[in-house]
Amino acid sequence: MAAAQYHTIDLTRLSLSPGQGARLELGVDPGPLEFGGSDYRVGDGAIAARLDVSRTAAGFALRLRFTGALAGPCMRCLEPAKVEVEVEAREVDQPASEDEELLSPYVTDGVLDLTAWAHDALALALPAQVLCRPDCAGLCPVCGRSLNDADPTDHDHPAEPDPRWAKLRELGPS
Ligand SMILES: [Zn+2]
Ligand SMILES: [Zn+2]
Repeated sequence: MAAAQYHTIDLTRLSLSPGQGARLELGVDPGPLEFGGSDYRVGDGAIAARLDVSRTAAGFALRLRFTGALAGPCMRCLEPAKVEVEVEAREVDQPASEDEELLSPYVTDGVLDLTAWAHDALALALPAQVLCRPDCAGLCPVCGRSLNDADPTDHDHPAEPDPRWAKLRELGPS
């Protein structure tokens, strides 16, 4: 059975004493990520995630983990592509602290904004390249069609004389 989906979690309702921890298996929807004008997303709605909550003397320490297949257009040829991503993020929230490092932007009055955190954590885990296959050949610079599985002779386009060379010839050796 799929874990219940949560958008926010009231950490105070876990009733943890300092030093105690809880592990929650839940569903989270990080939503779409926009990258280079295209949408990338993991799964169709909620995906399974694991949230570890530790009560510290002054607040909470949190760890969120989930994995999934990030889907969207190949960054070279625009065909559908999928890559496995593994997300692991940590946050600390000590509300009484003056130190910004110890204040989580995702926790307000003990309530964790799980959706926003999952979204940002996924954005940080986004691979530099989302490709349909590691050796995707991309698009032909002349005709714009995919070079994957193409017969090389299909793209044996007649060479246009490079205008820069023409210019050089014009200058010629004097
Ligand atoms: Zn591709
Ligand atoms: Zn071509």
